[in-house]
Amino acid sequence: MRVVIIGAGVTGLAVAWKLSKDHEVVLLERNSSIGGIAGSFQHQGFTLDLGPHKIYSLIPGILDEMRALLGTEAIAIPKTSGVIVAGKRLDYPIKFFDLLLKLKPLTSLKLGIGYGAALGLSFFRRKRIVSYADYFRANFGMPAYDLVFKPLAMKSWGDPESLTAELARKRSPYSGVFKMVKSMLFKDRKLSAENFYYPKHGFIGMSKIMLNHVLSSGSNILFNADVKKFGTKDGRIASVEFKHGGHMKKIDADYVVSSVPVTALPSMFNAPPEIMTAASELKFRSLLLVYVLVNRSQVMQDVWTFVPDKSFIFQRISEQKNFSKELGPENQTVLVAEVMCAYNDSLWNASDEELYRMVIPDLISAGFVKSGEAAGFYVARLKNIYPVYELGYRERLDAVLNFTDQFENFITIGRLGLFNYNNTDHCIDMAIWAAQHIRERKPVKDWIQTRKRFDDYVIVD
Ligand SMILES: Cc1cc2nc3c(=O)[nH]c(=O)nc-3n(C[C@H](O)[C@H](O)[C@H](O)COP(=O)(O)OP(=O)(O)OC[C@H]3O[C@@H](n4cnc5c(N)ncnc54)[C@H](O)[C@@H]3O)c2cc1C
Repeated sequence: MRVVIIGAGVTGLAVAWKLSKDHEVVLLERNSSIGGIAGSFQHQGFTLDLGPHKIYSLIPGILDEMRALLGTEAIAIPKTSGVIVAGKRLDYPIKFFDLLLKLKPLTSLKLGIGYGAALGLSFFRRKRIVSYADYFRANFGMPAYDLVFKPLAMKSWGDPESLTAELARKRSPYSGVFKMVKSMLFKDRKLSAENFYYPKHGFIGMSKIMLNHVLSSGSNILFNADVKKFGTKDGRIASVEFKHGGHMKKIDADYVVSSVPVTALPSMFNAPPEIMTAASELKFRSLLLVYVLVNRSQVMQDVWTFVPDKSFIFQRISEQKNFSKELGPENQTVLVAEVMCAYNDSLWNASDEELYRMVIPDLISAGFVKSGEAAGFYVARLKNIYPVYELGYRERLDAVLNFTDQFENFITIGRLGLFNYNNTDHCIDMAIWAAQHIRERKPVKDWIQTRKRFDDYVIVD
């Protein structure tokens, strides 16, 4: 059986790795390199990831699978993430006691009263939790919502009233202070993981190892192959058409696995207008990564620190060398400022120089660097990489998936392929399920059932 896999990000590579042992696999990748969003590149003596990436998983068996894949390439890094709230650095995920004890007494008092009020209210009035705003207000109280959760959402996603509670659950595995405290006392892995893992020569290392397995099984990858269209016949995909070297080419397929954004699929299938419309109404956010070279060997203790305060342009700062000392020279370091935006908005269209000039004063006023320490910059732009879980998105997504599910030899998976805000451990999990489904030649209805488990993925910071 020939399986054509579209996209050589972590998901596509993982399916290829799992299937190439007993099937002919052809990987088609639009770019000239592997790794997709989880890729790395070289700049001025540094290996830089496309935003900070750590390896961890709550899915049974997946962390072991990833560590075994990496072998000696895997290093353990202590979990040190922070968040700046009211000018103070607290641990992240936020511990409620930190909010109470590390902030100014008046702020702590407000947070305590707010939480008490939310708890008291919950005994009398069971409000339906629909939006992101409902979730955090009901579980943590209004002051905590206003101080932390609302500004973080506004910067990253948009108005929290228009976002689903599902997104809130993905980002905050603890529905309230009680559960948070209980998990701290009983060392729940969601909060008390002491180490994360990382491929010591850059995150792309994981993708490189998977590709090596694929190639050594005799399967193949074609770079700069931009898939445009499917040839369909009798409810199946018969061929995949792609642009390569300026020409349209075609390859026959027995099975097709796609990790391209789900929104791009209707036009590849030449779907009816209502499916095209549903897809066009699914929104993504984009990311600007401003890498700042600093003349110092190390700046932060954290691997990353969230900065929800709306007066700062970035929502998170990370330091690449805190993941692995092998990633750059000893006497310099690189800070990575993440700025989320909409594709084509004023931030997206700002020049690299303008973005750098916006980031530097904020890095100084937040206390990360001193004036004159920055020694250069680089900007990377990642278009449409965060699926936005707006109210009503599920119906639109289902409309598109119901359409693509008509093709019995087709699976769409991955972060963008399933509009699933996820991490690489989830990509590997999805890939393992997909490979098993294909190998056992199961019917589409089984895949629809399997896919439901992907909705429960939680992001662990
Ligand atoms: C800032 C940031 C931080 C993150 N941090 C972490 C973390 O700490 N830990 C973690 O595990 N995960 C993290 N993630 C998530 C992780 O990056 C993603 O879950 C993962 O990379 C998604 O992989 P994918 O293969 O599903 O998608 P992608 O990486 O998007 O891969 C899809 C591939 O398909 C190709 N493609 C698209 N269209 C076509 C076409 N028409 N024809 C051919 N090829 C095409 C693309 O070029 C791409 O290579 C983070 C993500 C971001 C943005």
